[in-house]
Amino acid sequence: MKLSTKITASLILGILFGAILNAFFPSVVPVLDKYVLLPVGKGFLRLIQFVVVPIVFTSLIMGFSGIKNTEKVGRLTGKLLFLYIATNFVALLIGIATAFALQPGTSVGDVGKLSSQKAPANQSIIDWIVSIIPTNPFEAFSMGNLLQIIFSAILIIIGMRLVGEKANPFLSFIQSFHLIIEKIISVVLKLSPIGVFALISSVIATQGFSLVQKLFLYIIGLLIALLMMILVYILLLSILKISPRRFWKSFYPSFSIAFGTASSNAALPVAIENARKDFNMKEEIASFAIPLGTALKRDGAVILQGFNALFVAQLFGVHLTAAMVITIMISAIIVSFSTAGVPGAGIIMMTTVLTAAGLPLEGIALVAGVDRLTDGFRTLLNVIGNIANAAILNKWEKE
Ligand code: ASP
Repeated sequence: MKLSTKITASLILGILFGAILNAFFPSVVPVLDKYVLLPVGKGFLRLIQFVVVPIVFTSLIMGFSGIKNTEKVGRLTGKLLFLYIATNFVALLIGIATAFALQPGTSVGDVGKLSSQKAPANQSIIDWIVSIIPTNPFEAFSMGNLLQIIFSAILIIIGMRLVGEKANPFLSFIQSFHLIIEKIISVVLKLSPIGVFALISSVIATQGFSLVQKLFLYIIGLLIALLMMILVYILLLSILKISPRRFWKSFYPSFSIAFGTASSNAALPVAIENARKDFNMKEEIASFAIPLGTALKRDGAVILQGFNALFVAQLFGVHLTAAMVITIMISAIIVSFSTAGVPGAGIIMMTTVLTAAGLPLEGIALVAGVDRLTDGFRTLLNVIGNIANAAILNKWEKE
């Protein structure tokens, strides 16, 4: 059986297993989840995170060292950022329009007593940009900070250029290390059906259905908006004559891992492999655009923030002024850039958007309860958007 078929089968089995546990054996769920499902799922997530930093760093060094002129790195980055912002804007409009049309916040009814939360201190945009420069490259690696790792790789490549031939042993070392990590990835991937099964069945088994019923329109509305954005990408790829079927088939393993783990970072090593081996993406784009997009590009987070802010306003009957909507839009896009590629990251960032727009933070506690149900879909869109933008850049560069 092909790996992608195995992952799909384990996703479906995991959902069924979780649903059966939730419906018929609720008393078994806490013990089974604590001692079996969660440890297995978390173990798999950690194993896949193990390869993220080495594969990103070695790919970047190899990819960049293949680019002969430094100007090209600047050009690729510029084009990518343009594509990211343009597509983020479309995602935002979809998220906001869906929340306007469905009014998910008005149908919740009695939300009970919610504990009020305080917004954490905000990091300003300038601080965020400055923080991309690591003070210690090893810290960047140990923290797995993707933007800092990309920055370090660029500096190291510049250094290697200046050193000339004497940098060759370092490059050979990196190439050899890269091959080793690739082999580790193939071993880890063999375990992915088990990991994905454990993760997804844990989610389904432990979700309480009463909250799901209350927030039904919220969940469905988000899913509709996410699906619409996926359709936008399919349309975009077709217009640019990049076969969506080939795109889907080549990247299916990374998409299924994104969905099963709800972590863009976890899907990154596989996405790079799929781009090179299955999609035939140019090496320099696969090894640069996909890590950059994993750090920055989050269509799912943009949709979540826009949709959620409107939901909260509806929930508390806050009348939205034009200025508030504009603030929501700007902060949703900015916040999406700094949303981490880990499960539940979007929830943490909600405080920033709500605070900026002057909306109550209490709604977060409510939606946090069902977050994991939409997180897989959000992450799927995050990864689709990231890779689609890389594929568009690939085409753009060819022409
Ligand atoms: N889980 C998402 C990701 O890894 C981030 C989010 O929570 O929106 O891309």
